[in-house]
Amino acid sequence: MSAVGSAHITLLAPLAGWSTPLEEAPDAVFAGRMLGEGLAIDPTAGTLYAPCDARIIVLPASRHAVTLRTKEGCEILLHVGLETVALAGAGFEAHVREGQQVRAGDRLLSFDLDFLAQRAPSLLTPIIVMAESGFRIVRCSLDRELAVGEFLMEVERLHEHSTVASAATAAQSGPAASASSASGVVSARAAGASIPAGVTRRLTVTFEHGLHARPAALLTASLKNLAAEVRIASRGREANARSTTAIMALGVRRGEVIEIHASGPDAAAAVRALSAALEHAAAAPRLPAASLAHATAPASATGAPALAGALTAAGSTAGAGAATLKGVVASPGMAVGTAVQLQRPEIDIRENGAGIEEETAALDWARSALRARLERRADVAADNEAEETARGIAAAHLALLDDPELVAAARALIARGKSAAFAWRSALRRSAEALSALPDERFRERVADLIDLESQMLVALAGGSVAAAAPQLPAAAIVIARELLPSQLSALDPTRLAGICMAAGGPTSHAAIIAAAIGVPALVALGPEVLGVEDGTPLLLDAALGILEIAPPEARIVAARAQLDARRAWRATLEAAARRDCRTADGVRIAVFANIGSQAEAQAAVRNGAEGCGLLRTEFLFLDRQLPPEEAEQREVYARIAVALGERPLTIRTLDAGGDKPIAYLPLPPEDNPALGLRGVRTSLAWPQLLRTQLRAVLGIHSPHCRLLLPMITDVEEIDAVRALLEEERRALGQRAPLALGVMIETPAAALLAERITAAADFVSIGTNDLTQYTLAMDRGHPQLAPRLDALHPAVLRLIARTAEAAEAHGRHAAVCGGLASEVLAAPLLVGLGIHELSAVPAVIPELKARISGLDSGQCRALAQQALAADSAAAVRRLLADPAALPPDSGDGL
Ligand code: PEP
Ligand code: MG
Repeated sequence: MSAVGSAHITLLAPLAGWSTPLEEAPDAVFAGRMLGEGLAIDPTAGTLYAPCDARIIVLPASRHAVTLRTKEGCEILLHVGLETVALAGAGFEAHVREGQQVRAGDRLLSFDLDFLAQRAPSLLTPIIVMAESGFRIVRCSLDRELAVGEFLMEVERLHEHSTVASAATAAQSGPAASASSASGVVSARAAGASIPAGVTRRLTVTFEHGLHARPAALLTASLKNLAAEVRIASRGREANARSTTAIMALGVRRGEVIEIHASGPDAAAAVRALSAALEHAAAAPRLPAASLAHATAPASATGAPALAGALTAAGSTAGAGAATLKGVVASPGMAVGTAVQLQRPEIDIRENGAGIEEETAALDWARSALRARLERRADVAADNEAEETARGIAAAHLALLDDPELVAAARALIARGKSAAFAWRSALRRSAEALSALPDERFRERVADLIDLESQMLVALAGGSVAAAAPQLPAAAIVIARELLPSQLSALDPTRLAGICMAAGGPTSHAAIIAAAIGVPALVALGPEVLGVEDGTPLLLDAALGILEIAPPEARIVAARAQLDARRAWRATLEAAARRDCRTADGVRIAVFANIGSQAEAQAAVRNGAEGCGLLRTEFLFLDRQLPPEEAEQREVYARIAVALGERPLTIRTLDAGGDKPIAYLPLPPEDNPALGLRGVRTSLAWPQLLRTQLRAVLGIHSPHCRLLLPMITDVEEIDAVRALLEEERRALGQRAPLALGVMIETPAAALLAERITAAADFVSIGTNDLTQYTLAMDRGHPQLAPRLDALHPAVLRLIARTAEAAEAHGRHAAVCGGLASEVLAAPLLVGLGIHELSAVPAVIPELKARISGLDSGQCRALAQQALAADSAAAVRRLLADPAALPPDSGDGL
């Protein structure tokens, strides 16, 4: 009854209750889909049934969850409630055992609903189609009451051999294969024969509940950007470390020793990543909210804090962990420090005014005082990313301050007898409410700017300033607030600010952007519990995994500080090495440039060893404003960026508007298919005055290192049309030297016409983001297709190879400036395909250069030939992970 065809499976509701989206589950591992897609059921009865015919592959001793595998290979996790592993089986009864075959509708577990309701933070029961098993949800029954056995969802296989599990099985042919169990766990001895030499580390798991779903998901996630083959062995059994199910099926308990074995190009990095993730998972048990108050009492209160619940070298002692909260990463990094709660200044305001004239005058005076302050901030010549961000935010606040609707609404309230403060606050809150109701999160996050402006105005009306009200921070302060306002954050002493935690807020709020700009790690959406943390409590903020540890044991803090120091030292070594020009080990020159979008990023690029800018995205100058930037404004910005780059090349891309980057002041028609509509060079040619202004601005900086790049080209006529305008403007300006005009290869049309296009252009740079979107016919913003939108698809690689060959035939080198250039894993392949210039995000440049300097170009070419002959992107990724196909990395990329 469950199979609808070879790869289509129907799942029936395994328990009665209300079905909701996974986002409703207050747990980042589930809501963030770290394990896979699915939904959650809020149960109304305490029995869990099999949703389809399948085998039970994981049933932990805590009996709080069951993982099944269908005969087609689809793995489904049914996880009753959240944090229920902590109940250690209390309240649960199992009716099946691991390895048992069940039929749809068979009883799996019973649980005591009332008991769980009192002890678990949520009863929401996630039903997850495990991503690694290679199935996707076709349709599902959401937001409705379900009875047991009703239709829940239909899933289908993504494509053959696309999964980690299948890769692992394939790798274990012969005797190992016969040893593999239903869960993906194999006998270590049997599998051992096929394990290539690599890096091994033994560790003791001290995590309170062993390796259950959450730590397993964190472990697999930690390996996401690494290519090594990694296995975890315990008690003579072994699992692929990229398979959550297989890790869970090992059934590793607290105190047991596991062995991590990695092989492949970045084996050392993989073992490090896995160890760090294990350490975090171990040290970060989530506690039900109710127990937080108790847990946040400083661990030293007893004089003998429990030892870290961390993963330690085999044989050392284990202990209880600290309370932790999970949030959303707004600015990456790690911090160790002490808690400082920051409240918004409470300002008492009168509702009734002292007279229309008096209140109007007060409003006008406060607006001009605030305007003067904001203008000073917006006019500062920004020398770094932080100042540039502050400038932009001040400019946005200025626009709001003069918003005619807001001002008119405030004046109308004053006319009705209200005070200036009351009127201003009411007007802003009305707008904030309207914004909050919009479906787009980015608009909702602008609400914080309105509240910020409200608070700055109220302070101004009361005769003060936000800066004056800012608290003195202790050293290494981790500031906690419900939602930090940009002005509050800017007023804090950055030298004492180690990290930021917000109970609410979003990752694209202005406060988050400032935090990232000043390099302070920040987590948002931690929930109201964080507001209960007492001032002075030691904190460990991990803004890589999104975890805040409250009052962690001293040993944990010492380990984290050591980790921070080690990370800084490693980074410094790479950065020092990155100052040199980049060559492969056998001497082939590969230029490594940076993609940037501002002057601050240009500075960051130089610091990171960029040899130039391969892509300046000029959109930042054109978006979020009422009118296009004038020639002088553009010229000034481009000139500042050129100065920041010194003698290095600067590649300025003309406006790439339209599509997913709409511009308010252009009458762009609504598009049925924005990605296929008026965007890139098409927009520029449709508004030639806009293009001419930009061309004049670029010519106006008189830089011999500057060149121009055109986005979204599909044929030679577009190049000729832009060149004609460029030449006209150049002659009009009386300039002699022509500007080099390059083309982005980001449509299949351009790649297929590469011979003609490279003849017409002065240089070419491959935009793999769009080239992948258009080649695979997958929208680059599509959430469900995101995992398959892979630039390593052989079809994309063939277009890259073709472009590189065409460029060589004209005596030129092709560059890659799309996201693939920032994937260190792909560097050998791109070198092998004949690419001689990569333009990457600044932060990755040191690692990229280190990787390239260890490569042999002949081996890269052989690797590229194999990749071009591959059947899928997954096959190419497997190839890149295969140590036999690739020269091994030295471990740290040096
Ligand atoms: C690309 O498409 O690869 C590219 C670099 O351009 P963007 O990401 O700005 O569209
Ligand atoms: Mg593009």
